[in-house]
Amino acid sequence: MAARTDHTETTRVTIGEGDGCVFGGTQVPVIAGPCSVEGEQEILAAAEAVKAAGAHALRGGAFKPRTNPYAFQGHGEDGLKMLAAARDATGLPIVTEVLTPSDVELVSKYADCLQIGTRNSQNFKLLEACGKQSKPVLMKRGMSMTLDEYLQAAEYILAAGNGNVILCERGIRTFEDHTRNTLSLSVVPELHERTHLPIVIDPSHGTGKAHLVPAMSKAAMACGCDGLAIEMHIDPEHALTDGAQSITPAVLSDLMEDLARVAVAV
Ligand code: PEP
Ligand code: MN
Repeated sequence: MAARTDHTETTRVTIGEGDGCVFGGTQVPVIAGPCSVEGEQEILAAAEAVKAAGAHALRGGAFKPRTNPYAFQGHGEDGLKMLAAARDATGLPIVTEVLTPSDVELVSKYADCLQIGTRNSQNFKLLEACGKQSKPVLMKRGMSMTLDEYLQAAEYILAAGNGNVILCERGIRTFEDHTRNTLSLSVVPELHERTHLPIVIDPSHGTGKAHLVPAMSKAAMACGCDGLAIEMHIDPEHALTDGAQSITPAVLSDLMEDLARVAVAV
């Protein structure tokens, strides 16, 4: 059960081999990388930058849930292969989105952690399929989902047999228009009361603006999040997707240093 009830400790969810990326323990891992896997060289350079900055896992979408059907949809299995090559080169575990139940087997063959996107957060057949495979699942909150609905959706993964679920707040839809979404940081302490599952914050989709990402990352850390998921691109201006909210490698490096200071202070 996702409910906190009998669990005094937050559940620890490990991504990849070894103990370099554990959510819910003393470490607060940072998953970073581009919105989309764009090409072999691009994802490799991004992975090297993520590693050099001291972040813990590489993200990148091979299957992209695009609002516009004519927009770049991702490289599919080729993108998964590029991610796997970047993992081989850097040792970073990889997190990537799965869009449909029929792709779960394929994505779990390559990924260290399967991401469920905000638009699929109540796709119960997809949640069940992710629950039937053994890789950890990073489950984004639906953009119009209450926390009660969120935890019931997560329960689909647990009920199907996979307890390695990491929750992820990525912003919700409000009237606010200075940001792409409204990043609800109060969910961190609230969810810690209600569930034993670890909670990650995604300040990139949460704000839609790269210049807001460092401040919201530090605020999330101060709130007690169990990890961060951040979009970083080696050349944000030319990113195929979500360039406006992607930080540069240099900003990520500085942020990792600042986060270490926040971690000591809280
Ligand atoms: C993503 O992580 O690139 C993504 C599409 O996220 P979300 O589902 O939160 O919009
Ligand atoms: Mn994105």
